[in-house]
Amino acid sequence: TGRPVTVLGLGRMGSALAGALLDAGSRTVVWNRTADKAEALAARAAVPAGSAAEAIQASPLVIVCLLDYDNVRAVLEPNADVLADRTLVNLTTGTPEQASALADWAGTHGAHYLDGAMMAVPQTVGTPEAFFLYSGSSEAFDAHRPTLDHLAASHYLGSDPSVAELWDSALLGSGYAALTGFLHSVALLDTAGVAPTRFLPLATQWLNGMLAFMPDLAQEIEAGDYSKGVSPVDMNRAAVHNISQISTRHGVDADVHAPLLALLDRRIADGHPADSFASIVEVLRERRD
Ligand code: NDP
Repeated sequence: TGRPVTVLGLGRMGSALAGALLDAGSRTVVWNRTADKAEALAARAAVPAGSAAEAIQASPLVIVCLLDYDNVRAVLEPNADVLADRTLVNLTTGTPEQASALADWAGTHGAHYLDGAMMAVPQTVGTPEAFFLYSGSSEAFDAHRPTLDHLAASHYLGSDPSVAELWDSALLGSGYAALTGFLHSVALLDTAGVAPTRFLPLATQWLNGMLAFMPDLAQEIEAGDYSKGVSPVDMNRAAVHNISQISTRHGVDADVHAPLLALLDRRIADGHPADSFASIVEVLRERRD
């Protein structure tokens, strides 16, 4: 019902996006470079367009989900003349710089641009587990939010189009570091014949405790006061050094923890052994100028 929505790109994610729109009852126009990927969606009442230009012209809202920004350029640049007054929502993963440059380019052709990052996998699109980040035109976000909410919970992060990609990196980075730590733990316990599933309950309880510690870190960093923390740098240095030693003795690679050990050493060398763990952020920020 209502105005149609176009999806450009029907890979794993693009197909899931179009599927979620169809589930929500949206008239959905689809296009993919390799046309046969539209067949399953067409069987669910999506309308396949004969060309990218036709797909863009069919709807006020054009959602783009290709592999990378070079592909997005390759698809959009030949169709610059049909972009005027369209809202482009680009969910393709890229860098903040690519997002800014594409937003500028789209603007010169009269399109409203929203950059997006999908915190989801194909199976979670359209479910409460998924959330998407957006930045760029606030008018475009407000106008199309009801449609975007069918894909995932929507979070608008500001008018600078690059920030959604920055938040994407920030979230992915936290997740990767935690999961890599988990994989190291699994390898270490494997030396004692402990199966990963047996480790899970206590690992989960421990990591939940770590999550509960995050607000303290955030508050200390915002206050710029590292004097009241209960977990000082030198104590943590000893703990991480221990993980490293034990791993090596058990024939397990401890490289995962080497970066943290180096950061703790730098904070100590800077003269702050008694500061709280959160103060490591000061070492990380040193490269910024
Ligand atoms: P797929 O590899 O499944 O699909 C890639 C899509 O890009 C296809 O539609 C493909 O078309 C198209 N494409 C590639 N090159 C070109 C080109 N030169 N011209 C036109 N179209 C092109 O990727 P995903 O769907 O998995 O990923 C899409 C985006 O979503 C990526 O940026 C990815 O980082 C991001 N993402 C993916 C997640 C996932 O779990 N898969 C999770 C979160 C984000 P064709 O069919 O013709 O090859």
